[in-house]
Amino acid sequence: MQKTIPFFNYQALFTPQEEELMPVLLNVMRRGAFILQKDLLEFEANLAKFVGAKYAFGVANGTDALIIALRAAGIKPGDEVILPSHTYIATAAAVHFAGATPVLVECGTDHLIDPESVKAAVTAKTRAIMPVQLNGRTSEMDALQTIADEHNLLIIEDAAQALGSKYKGQCAGTFGIAGTYSFYPAKVLGCFGDGGAVVTNDDATAEQVSLLRDHGRNEDGDIVAWGLNSRLDNLQAAVLNFKLQTFPQAVERRREIARRYHAGLSEISDLVLPPSPDSDPNHYDVYQNYEIESSHRDALKDHLKKDGIGTIIQWAGKAVHQFEALKFNVSLPFTEKMFERCLMLPMNTSLSAEDIDYICDSIHHFYRLAV
Ligand SMILES: *Cc1c(COP(=O)(O)O)cnc(C)c1O
Repeated sequence: MQKTIPFFNYQALFTPQEEELMPVLLNVMRRGAFILQKDLLEFEANLAKFVGAKYAFGVANGTDALIIALRAAGIKPGDEVILPSHTYIATAAAVHFAGATPVLVECGTDHLIDPESVKAAVTAKTRAIMPVQLNGRTSEMDALQTIADEHNLLIIEDAAQALGSKYKGQCAGTFGIAGTYSFYPAKVLGCFGDGGAVVTNDDATAEQVSLLRDHGRNEDGDIVAWGLNSRLDNLQAAVLNFKLQTFPQAVERRREIARRYHAGLSEISDLVLPPSPDSDPNHYDVYQNYEIESSHRDALKDHLKKDGIGTIIQWAGKAVHQFEALKFNVSLPFTEKMFERCLMLPMNTSLSAEDIDYICDSIHHFYRLAV
């Protein structure tokens, strides 16, 4: 029987929990508690505890989180920041708006920043490495730390897609001087609009983040630096605080789905699958996305569409250096090849086991017919 499985089901963020969420929203609105109120402070404390960071600050979105993290860590005009070209444009844009120069490098077979490529890109101007913890997996942080130590570089993590992801037991976002998350609705922890956070263990960086997100205003209301208006709405914070309570179960559900995809698809030799949840004790992945590679990617996408299954080729099928208007003028063959092969299958907590089986059956059918 034909099913319809959208790539992402936005209503499912609210409707299954409508009865519990409405009182949370009403409570905030009846109190008139909209900006920098207790729900935000509580969420920040709970988030910091959840990831094991000393400080967490809610900000307006994940892109602002990156700009603020970079500036709070002291990145300035003239600095170079190394990041993977396989990322959302926001990572590179944040470096640009911090006044620094984004230097784009290759990703590896794990689709994450390639330490060898980072090493080759270090110059006298390099100030920081920005690993992007894509698809809910954390990069090889030991290798990156070694390079950072050798050249005296900061690490600032874009963990927009990786809340709860771990490398050797440590949470994504907490490795360097600062790390960031996004709470865009489709992210692993999504709110009902835009939202983001910066975490840090460093006192001076924390102070800068708190100033930058609220007009440079200190606790007395005095303006002590130039700042922005980039606060996480209290209403969103209340929603996030509520959803954080059951977030570990949501992550376990994603890992179950990944396990089921792996069991259903691993015998198709043409496919490259993400590492399965139990394959590497150094990594605990939260599966923001389930990104596969296929040498028949476009035909497979069409086939799945005919079967009612929504898929996405991430970021319009281009790495950051491939957007001509930005004039990067570099060649990154591994990343370019990857973008001809990658495809994201549906991955979210509203999917049932039958949905996953239906998707796997459709992919098997494609390979029996077409290849
Ligand atoms: C979503 C995302 C961002 C930006 O977050 P917003 O909340 O949409 O501003 C940055 N980097 C990566 C890798 C992302 O996936």
